[in-house]
Amino acid sequence: MPARKSATASDSQPLIGVVALQGAAAEHVAAFRRAGARAVEVRVPADLDGVDAVALPGGESTTMSHLLRTSGLFDALSERLAGGMPAFGTCAGMILLAVDVLDGRPDQRCFGAIDISVRRNAFGRQVASFEAELTADGLDEPFKAVFIRAPWVERAGDSVEVLAEITPASNSSTDGVPSSVPVLCRSGPILVSSFHPELTADDRIHQLFLDMVGASMAR
Ligand code: GLN
Repeated sequence: MPARKSATASDSQPLIGVVALQGAAAEHVAAFRRAGARAVEVRVPADLDGVDAVALPGGESTTMSHLLRTSGLFDALSERLAGGMPAFGTCAGMILLAVDVLDGRPDQRCFGAIDISVRRNAFGRQVASFEAELTADGLDEPFKAVFIRAPWVERAGDSVEVLAEITPASNSSTDGVPSSVPVLCRSGPILVSSFHPELTADDRIHQLFLDMVGASMAR
């Protein structure tokens, strides 16, 4: 298991707001705390006060889109993202940060914070959930990635850095399966993954995001 930073949380460390309307929010809070950051759950716009960056967890993007609107968080978060606040989206969270959602519900909204088009449930149905050893730019050793009804990135704009890709199995749901698809991408202060780093004990991708947050705060 790779080494982790064992810092204790103090006010000098960034405060990460984990959107906790639905999905695996508690797991992100725990992962950020293990990685040495402060983390709080965000449910209403006032919870964003004092937050340096946000994480959008895995879950169900259509439900989260609905709850983001009814809670008033959608507009509040849009404003902060437009102001350059860093954000980390995993699985459903990646869908919410994208510019375009393929196979989405017509009323589902997204923030357009990273220039990618994502296809929902692209790897197949629930039974097609799987684990893969990923080689990722910026990580010395492979990362065990958990995919659950995961989206993939079907288009990444020029501003997007693809940090990891995988070859989908041939039983994936779309016709004409691509030979490889991006599953970890970064653009400016935005990091997205198709998989769930919050569901494993390896916090290196949370650490990568915290490094991005640190760089953005130093600017
Ligand atoms: N399929 C889900 C969606 O469309 C995402 C699954 C996940 O977050 N594990 O939102």
